[in-house]
Amino acid sequence: MEPIYLDNASTTPTAPEVLAAMKPYFTDTFGNASSVHAFGRESKEAVEEAREKVADLIGADEPREIIFTSGGTEADNLAIKGIAMQNREQGKHIITSAIEHHAVLHPCEYLEEYHGFEVTSIPVDEEGLVNPLDVAEAVRDDTVLISIMLANNEVGTIQPIAEIGKIAQQKGICFHTDAVQAVGSIPVDVNELNVDLLSLSGHKFNAPKGIGALYIRKGTRIVPFMHGGAQERGKRASTENVPSIVGMGKAAEIVKNELKEKQEKLTRLRDKLIEGIEERIDEVQLNGHRNKRLPNNVNISIRYIEGESLLLNLDLKGIAASSGSACTSGSLDPSHVLLAMGISHEIAHGSLRLTLGKYNTEAEVEHVLDVLPKIVEKLRAMSPIYNQKEA
Ligand SMILES: *Cc1c(COP(=O)(O)O)cnc(C)c1O
Repeated sequence: MEPIYLDNASTTPTAPEVLAAMKPYFTDTFGNASSVHAFGRESKEAVEEAREKVADLIGADEPREIIFTSGGTEADNLAIKGIAMQNREQGKHIITSAIEHHAVLHPCEYLEEYHGFEVTSIPVDEEGLVNPLDVAEAVRDDTVLISIMLANNEVGTIQPIAEIGKIAQQKGICFHTDAVQAVGSIPVDVNELNVDLLSLSGHKFNAPKGIGALYIRKGTRIVPFMHGGAQERGKRASTENVPSIVGMGKAAEIVKNELKEKQEKLTRLRDKLIEGIEERIDEVQLNGHRNKRLPNNVNISIRYIEGESLLLNLDLKGIAASSGSACTSGSLDPSHVLLAMGISHEIAHGSLRLTLGKYNTEAEVEHVLDVLPKIVEKLRAMSPIYNQKEA
């Protein structure tokens, strides 16, 4: 069997149609989008067409509300630092949640450490949900920004962003959402969500890595942090990455057209995985909300087993997954997301994340449901705690 890729929350393959759309912009149409000659104008047109497609995908009123960046991380940084700097005379208080991606948490920490900001972190319940009332209560006279993610990258929980946006609107506070995991998986509309800023990233929906965008609602003022040329209406200097921007536009167009179908298919595969695992393996726990959940996310803790050994064994069988302990960062600390949900260290260490993408099939899911229980059985047989419990 071909290797099975179930780590689509980390990244997705670039779609062949996307690559094909990009190709001419490396060679034939290589002009600098800021140049006035025909080469430049052609690139500029391609960039603007892509901007329209991205704007269209997220329901923005105007393409000019889209600023292309180098990815989701840069979009988050631009939103948070840019709004903080813009409004620092009005106040230095930011509200965010305990389960944000590091691309949001670390810019907030930076603002605290170097610019005298104060950050309030809203806790989540055991399913990973933020309560909008907690956000309302945390608002102060000096609050200048609220940043809460639309969908979590580890457990897939979808937050009540529209409700939080209402609160932000009523209080006149800028509201940013990191929608990197949500865009391309569920419908995302900036007006329905009541957001002023929204981050997205190409490589999470079958565009290449290294390209992203920040939606900035018309009228929202922001201080840029990439200084140089006047590209992206002065909000993000540097020669436009034309091929990648074209790729992201193409991916946005494709996913907009296939979203309903994709969502239905992934939900079906997701539920087959969850139910199959719960049927075949005892003492498992689904992490995150059962329904308010991304259609492609399965996050499950399997007791008496280390997520790391599970990953390695799955990898040996050609199945690529991810775990809830951040071994990639060189530490074995369990994820801040699982801990914020009140999950014990032990359970968090046994967590496994399987994230689906547009190319996964029913047969692959069935194969995983065949292989995974055998690996669990083998690992539990070697586990002293499991054997103690059995004895
Ligand atoms: C992947 C991801 C990011 C970072 O995006 P990059 O394009 O890889 O920089 C930010 N936030 C969330 C929720 C993500 O899943």
